[in-house]
Amino acid sequence: MLVVQCDFDDTVSVGNVSVAIREAFDLENWKEMEAEFVSGKYTVEQSNIMQYGGLRASQDEIEEFVRGDVVVRYAFEEFVAYCQGVGVRLVVVSSGLEFYVRATLNSLGLDDVEMHAGQTEFTPDGIRVSYDDPDGVPITSGFKDSYVAHFKSQGHTVIYVGDGLSDLDAARFADHVIARDGLADDMERLGLPYGRFETFRDVGEHVERVRIELDDRKVRP
Ligand SMILES: [Mg+2]
Repeated sequence: MLVVQCDFDDTVSVGNVSVAIREAFDLENWKEMEAEFVSGKYTVEQSNIMQYGGLRASQDEIEEFVRGDVVVRYAFEEFVAYCQGVGVRLVVVSSGLEFYVRATLNSLGLDDVEMHAGQTEFTPDGIRVSYDDPDGVPITSGFKDSYVAHFKSQGHTVIYVGDGLSDLDAARFADHVIARDGLADDMERLGLPYGRFETFRDVGEHVERVRIELDDRKVRP
């Protein structure tokens, strides 16, 4: 089966919802902690666990903010319908938090899109974030890669769609990569093949090319 594993922040969304939340709710020191993630001191999972650990807001408050703030990239809904129509399995895998990804998808009426992200528990002291790999084992690194590895171990062809630093390892495991922004630059720098996108029209065209190629291979002796 053809699986499209798709990042959320700055990929499905225009702009980074996770950054917008951290800015809107006056999270202390998050920029310093983010810089430490970018420098490689912490994984994205460790960094999110630390940063959201200090965010004291209710789930309702943040969800309301997300519903009012989030902009989804052009033609995403159309791309979801295309995947459902041709039998491509679309899975949104985000190292962000499940509740805001879900709130965004639900606000678009896309309740049935498969998604995996950080689990959250709201406490008076902050948000407790945790990540489980596809087998339910708690992890603090390689969340996105663990899903690519899981889909490939099931014999699926994986197309990875993403934009940033936390996508690079997962993209390198995947069979095909569709990238924008920092991930596209990294693929370019490493001399690895990828297709560039700005809208989900572009993503759909790349996916359709791979799908037809796979179908052709199936019918040939
Ligand atoms: Mg992203």
